[in-house]
Amino acid sequence: MLRCEDVSLDYGSYRALAGVSIHVDAGELVVMLGANGAGKSSLFLAVSGLRKLAAGRVLLGDQDLAGHKASAIVEAGLVQCPEGRKLFPGMSVEKNLTLGAYVHRADPAGSKPILEQIFAMFPILREKRHDPAGSLSGGQQQMVAIGRALMGRPKVLLLDEPSLGLAPLLVKQVLAAVKGINQAGTTVLLAEQNAYAALQIADRAYVLENGRIVMEGAPDELLGDERVRRAYIGA
Ligand code: ATP
Repeated sequence: MLRCEDVSLDYGSYRALAGVSIHVDAGELVVMLGANGAGKSSLFLAVSGLRKLAAGRVLLGDQDLAGHKASAIVEAGLVQCPEGRKLFPGMSVEKNLTLGAYVHRADPAGSKPILEQIFAMFPILREKRHDPAGSLSGGQQQMVAIGRALMGRPKVLLLDEPSLGLAPLLVKQVLAAVKGINQAGTTVLLAEQNAYAALQIADRAYVLENGRIVMEGAPDELLGDERVRRAYIGA
């Protein structure tokens, strides 16, 4: 469903990604583990068309995304929920959610059931639909950010560290919601530093270090790997 082939990305003379090749099959939930600065967000920016590749290519199905504008990539079904949520704090929860459907604005009727599904998944958002998004707790704001991405009707959902800064109970809740979204049919690529919790819901995982993939495997393999345990789990 999603394939990165030898993707490299530079910030000036600094190479942030060096020949990254990954794939996410239809229906999979794949986790990208990596410490601060490993290149997870850079990979997502590259895939979403928000940063130009220095080399390589990104394919969605058999469609090469080279030269596609970011909005066209969303329309094609690759939707990102960015690190740090990036909501519009002064706008209502509902408006923030509706903004996610901007590329589908010619079909507002098609967005209504999706909004209902989001409210069913996160009932607190229905309660707070008219409140400014900035007045919500961190966990609730993360729910809005995930909901906004769902309004883009993703075939592949990219989630960049949705658990960042959340209390342990909320981490569990947010990752359970991510698993639910995947089980309902959306393919997911999830970047996380919270390795143990992420591997509990993953089908497969990669480890990114200094812009390179250094490991790939089933969650059990990674959880059993001494180096992964030391670097990402602390046990
Ligand atoms: P984090 O979890 O801290 O966001 P990450 O794995 O997402 O980490 P990236 O944000 O992709 O990592 O950063 C990869 C590397 O690229 C880091 O060394 C970072 O300092 C550098 N970098 C990121 N954005 C820029 C930029 N706009 N200009 C220059 N260097 C950058």
